[in-house]
Amino acid sequence: MIQKKDLAIYVHIPFCIRKCYYCDFASFVAPRQTQALYMQSLQEELKSYTPLGNHYIVRSIYFGGGTPSVLEPIYLMRVLLDIRDHFLVAKDVEITVECNPGTLSESKLQEYKALGINRLSIGLQSANDAELKLLGRIHTWSVFRSNYALARRLGFNNINIDLMQSLPHQTVEGWMDTLQKVTELSPEHISAYSLTIEPGTPFYNTYGSPEGQKELPSEEEDREMYHRTRDFLHTRGYERYEISNYAKEGYESRHNITYWVGGDYLGLGLNAASYMDGRRFTNPKDLQEYRDTARGAYARCKAAEPLTEKARMEEFMFLGLRMMQGVSEMEFRNRFRKTIADVYGDIPTKLMAEGLLKREKGRLKLTERGIDVSNGVMAEFIL
Ligand code: SF4
Repeated sequence: MIQKKDLAIYVHIPFCIRKCYYCDFASFVAPRQTQALYMQSLQEELKSYTPLGNHYIVRSIYFGGGTPSVLEPIYLMRVLLDIRDHFLVAKDVEITVECNPGTLSESKLQEYKALGINRLSIGLQSANDAELKLLGRIHTWSVFRSNYALARRLGFNNINIDLMQSLPHQTVEGWMDTLQKVTELSPEHISAYSLTIEPGTPFYNTYGSPEGQKELPSEEEDREMYHRTRDFLHTRGYERYEISNYAKEGYESRHNITYWVGGDYLGLGLNAASYMDGRRFTNPKDLQEYRDTARGAYARCKAAEPLTEKARMEEFMFLGLRMMQGVSEMEFRNRFRKTIADVYGDIPTKLMAEGLLKREKGRLKLTERGIDVSNGVMAEFIL
């Protein structure tokens, strides 16, 4: 019997009610007809992967976006049924749907429950209505509160809340107010990222120039928000398990951990990335091109060049160091038949001497100072 490998499946739903001013994700507003055609292509793409069914067992399914909760649940149902048709799915599979406040209703959430969806990830970003408006979000704090209460009442007991710090004009105290309000609701998981100003967005036009940047919190304020988040959430029972992710014990995101530990994942839909059997490939970003090529997805996957050993080593280090547990020196040796020192020479020792990296029980981890300058530390592991 073939030993099945674990697989995480990501399903990209690119539709949103309105485009937020800071967003550069593959997401847009589309009429129902476009949504229906897209979902048809997604099912065709999924079907093309039938030959992989014998090789994998699906441990997590993640509907991300975009705003998957704008879709009628029947579309999610079809995808889930197809996944079960083509793959073996673990009994305790984690199924997450990203939802935005203002797109949920009692009937929709009931249908999610009936489909076996057992985790919601709600994009709140801020508990401050003025900040939400500035971001171009469609919801208010009060809309979020009622959606959240509804989800709880209907029995969803594994909820992530996405937050964003370092917003224009935001103060450290303003950010802490958001955290205070959110933790009062006691979600199982909190993600907290800093806003980044991406080229091509309305925010870039406003805040991308040296003049505009003055309206954003300084680097020192951003770091202070980060440190206070870590300390505050710790006192509320959340452990930081990845640079920007916090969970109550046992509620870490199984799906996201797959990315960070270099596990296999299949990305379906517009611009979705996959990593399987050492091959990385990304679907087209153009909607028409995606639709035209969806049926041939598996053939493209097989034709993709495997990552070089160098690239796999780099990824092992970059992604692994994002996790608080760090990277295992023994696992590196088992995977690559070389030690970290064979490959990176005295770089880890130098970073340890600088107080940016530490070694604990056979694992290399970022220190608190290393986290503050993590981009620079990761750059040291480029080969
Ligand atoms: S809801 Fe999310 S994906 Fe949609 S536009 Fe806003 S930030 Fe982008």
